[in-house]
Amino acid sequence: MGIATRKSVVSVTLSRPSPRIGERYNPTSLPVQRSRATIAPGSQPPRIGEILMDMKIDGLRVLVTAGASGIGLATARAFAAEGARILICDIDEKALAAVAASDPELSRMVCDVADPVTVEKLFDAVAANLGGLDALVNNAGIAGPTAACEEVALADWQRTIAINLTGQFLCAQRAIPLLKASSNPSIANLSSAAGRFGYPMRTPYAASKWGVVGFSKSLSGELGPFGIRVNAICPGFVAGPRIEHVLASKAAARGVPTDVVRAEGLAKTSLRRFVTAEDIANAIVFLASPAGMNISGHALPVDGDLQALM
Ligand code: NAD
Repeated sequence: MGIATRKSVVSVTLSRPSPRIGERYNPTSLPVQRSRATIAPGSQPPRIGEILMDMKIDGLRVLVTAGASGIGLATARAFAAEGARILICDIDEKALAAVAASDPELSRMVCDVADPVTVEKLFDAVAANLGGLDALVNNAGIAGPTAACEEVALADWQRTIAINLTGQFLCAQRAIPLLKASSNPSIANLSSAAGRFGYPMRTPYAASKWGVVGFSKSLSGELGPFGIRVNAICPGFVAGPRIEHVLASKAAARGVPTDVVRAEGLAKTSLRRFVTAEDIANAIVFLASPAGMNISGHALPVDGDLQALM
């Protein structure tokens, strides 16, 4: 990833020192004016997905759910590259063990976000490992079944809603008291392009992701007076194994080759490319930084300008 060296690419000056992480929220202690970022003469142009600002989040205490792979792991790494302190959780113990080897700086915890008992234990670990919380990234989500609505098993519907929506609710409930004590508090809830458009043959997933948008918008109004920002993030097609599985399942359900579905997806994306997990991570880091301090209540697409789902 290019993010490890990005601080040397661009410097951003704050007119006042950024808030100390761990301080109680106080709007008057936050920076009010920034200089324009400039790219140093002779430096390499930025690569797609690279962050171009010093995020000023040294020591930020971050919880990323489902952080052992995909967008969650990319997000944990992007925060870590900015000096944040991270706890990741995941249901997959083997994947967590692999992260222990590849990214030993990330604290880890086994947790099923749909299970209130393990979520309780997760927040005991947040207190023990981080001593508080500044940013919650509610990332855990499963694809759920690909099938016509009348063929979806009730258990599959319930499991999709339980992980994708109830899991965010359970984690937010436990995070809110901690975030109220933070100087720079935020929540990022992973929705999807399927939380903006209809998604035939994926009704459980789409319903859960539209639910995430409603949950986030309601929570932003509720928590704004405490200085807590809440945004939903709506990734489009993210290059990687998950989207390959989604494309293949969709193709099988429609009886067409996977490449046909892939081409349809690209044709509906203005920028004609899939995004990366790092693109999503960069947006989340920005929103959790002082630079994002006045951005709340949005459902932010990071999708190369996807115009529709197929
Ligand atoms: P992924 O499938 O690559 O990884 C998901 C991780 O979630 C895995 O490590 C898995 O073990 C973990 N997990 C599954 N169930 C869990 C549970 N109950 N509790 C805790 N962890 C659990 O997923 P991803 O592509 O990185 O997606 C991350 C989020 O982004 C999801 O909410 C997803 O819906 C959303 N999203 C992804 C895409 C995409 O194209 N990849 C597009 C739109 C939205």
